Amino acid sequence: MNNFYLGIDIGGTEVKIGVVTGAGDIIKTDNFSVNFDNYKTPIIETVLKSLDIFINKNNLDLSTILGIGISATGQIDTYNGTVAGTAGHIDNWIGTPIKNILKEKYSLPVSVANDANCAVIGEYWRGSAMGCSNVIMITVGTGIGGGIISNGKLLSGKIGIAGELGHFPINITGKKCSCGNIGCYEKYASTTALVNNVKDLLKSNANIDINNINGKFIFEQINLGNADIKKIVDKWIESIAMGLVGLIHIFNPELVIIGGGVSNQEELFITPLRNKIFELIMPSFKNGLKISSASLGNNAGLCGAVYNLIYENNLL
Ligand SMILES: [Zn+2]
Repeated sequence: MNNFYLGIDIGGTEVKIGVVTGAGDIIKTDNFSVNFDNYKTPIIETVLKSLDIFINKNNLDLSTILGIGISATGQIDTYNGTVAGTAGHIDNWIGTPIKNILKEKYSLPVSVANDANCAVIGEYWRGSAMGCSNVIMITVGTGIGGGIISNGKLLSGKIGIAGELGHFPINITGKKCSCGNIGCYEKYASTTALVNNVKDLLKSNANIDINNINGKFIFEQINLGNADIKKIVDKWIESIAMGLVGLIHIFNPELVIIGGGVSNQEELFITPLRNKIFELIMPSFKNGLKISSASLGNNAGLCGAVYNLIYENNLL
């Protein structure tokens, strides 16, 4: 008889549920919206309902499931499996005892960790970071997510919320952030920051609906030779590089992984970012350093959550 694990990746817009093998192969997945009513329905309620639907739809035999690994948005207290905080406001989320709720309902081992930390663990188990012991991963999207593996171990900190790289301040006189601070990395390095800067540039252009501006549009414009947009992208890449240079000097990684939708732009994003970083770091840090895009896409969180579950509970 085969044994499986359930992976649950809870993001700010949707929850992804999947069946994962002990080798990290994802058998089936499904996504469900969590912000359909702007979080009036608590996320955890939506997750429980979605799980019922997923289990019924796939005729899942729960006796073959050995545990539930959860990756979740926000600052996750990994020891208690609760939501300790968030950078922006999400109604009905802070304080949710995710681990206890799932444990009680399914009587299975449960582990919970932050989504960006799960992503780097997923890449370490089955993706770009296989075989690497010192890894920094940033996920470039609405914000910046981060995870750090140092000497073969995920940097977790006192309650498990370490690696909050998006809120690493890089500008003392900078922009106000949703976390209440100013000058945070994600205000300059996220896809949202890039899109906002391009919207500012194009807002008086009557031929363009600025609501349609996204990463894809921006890179298409560079391919078409739009020099003004190229300038904004260059500045954005420089901001991403600045943060990573600081982290490289602190952690001396062998690998920096870039995740998020924009990371599939190898030529227009990953290559110039790599060049910029190598231009700025001290020579001895270049030794054996690789900078590459993530390889698991949006399955990384699910994969990492199940890896955490297996190793925290000795389930293999
Ligand atoms: Zn912040």
